[in-house]
Amino acid sequence: MDRERIQKVLDERKEPAFRAKQIMAAIYGQRISSWEQATSLSKELRDALVDVPVSTLTLSHRAQSKKDGTVKALFTLADDKEIEAVMIPNGDFRTVCVSSQVGCAMKCSFCATGTMGLKRNLSADEIVDQVLFFEKELAPKNERVTNVVFMGMGEPCANLDNVFESIRIMNSKDGLGIGARKISISTCGIVPGIRRIAEFDLQINLAVSLHAPTDDVRSEIMPVNKAYSIGQVLDACRDYLRQTNRKLFFEYVMLSGINDSIEQADELGAVLKDFRPLIQVNLIPFHQSFFEFRPTARAAIERFQSIVLAAGIPCTIRHSAGVDIAAACGQLALERKDK
Ligand code: SF4
Repeated sequence: MDRERIQKVLDERKEPAFRAKQIMAAIYGQRISSWEQATSLSKELRDALVDVPVSTLTLSHRAQSKKDGTVKALFTLADDKEIEAVMIPNGDFRTVCVSSQVGCAMKCSFCATGTMGLKRNLSADEIVDQVLFFEKELAPKNERVTNVVFMGMGEPCANLDNVFESIRIMNSKDGLGIGARKISISTCGIVPGIRRIAEFDLQINLAVSLHAPTDDVRSEIMPVNKAYSIGQVLDACRDYLRQTNRKLFFEYVMLSGINDSIEQADELGAVLKDFRPLIQVNLIPFHQSFFEFRPTARAAIERFQSIVLAAGIPCTIRHSAGVDIAAACGQLALERKDK
């Protein structure tokens, strides 16, 4: 919902303050698709709102994996820019991966979104509406979105005010009612952002993309490392753990011949050893096809995992969802642009 435009209509009509709450209840609670369905509002108010779209997003493309049911949605925004969101079903979980920006300025060299550059930040409403879209899709099956991860297009810590505001709406009982512990922010290692998340009053999860155990390799694949080195990122992570007492996740995308050697697994174990056992490393199989990077073979990922585990660090291999529908961030938007 576009709260700013809705509020303008309410102000023009001098509606009482509780009307905004009624509208929130219609949109987030009743999950209306058109104002006509908002029968708690007067006919006059519904007519006055008719030019304000119920959602800030228009679905422009939808793809569903035949293999695992993952759904990827491409949305057009009011200014014709495009973003993506993904819903990953896994057992009882329905995890939605949301975008926080149109494009991204961070230019990680293995990432489709990074090649687009940054177009603009998303508003809190545009972020929440991605989750709401999937809530509406799941409703006929009596299912709900269970988890939200900020791992789509964009760097959440570069748009943290709007990201925090969106999390408040998702978490609020007047909003989507999703538990804070079911919401995760993933950052490429923006140190001031990690420090702000540590101060945030809601108990959300944090994942930090490390992707290499040494500054030389990390700087090669993640330009952000030149601004915030591994040492600075880990210092902020140490403070985060001290302040929050919450588990911290390190993401590590496996790129053949770049960051996946036995020596690098040893180095990763050494770099993270004083974090044991409060952290978890998630190894991410790479499956994009736009770049010169190649995926690490499964056996080599498992060997890497066993070395990290032997160092006493919990380490999992992430399940690759939606490979057949280009579900990695930025892929679908780029593919469609190419076409
Ligand atoms: S991996 Fe994340 S931070 Fe890096 S360019 Fe892609 S969207 Fe941006």
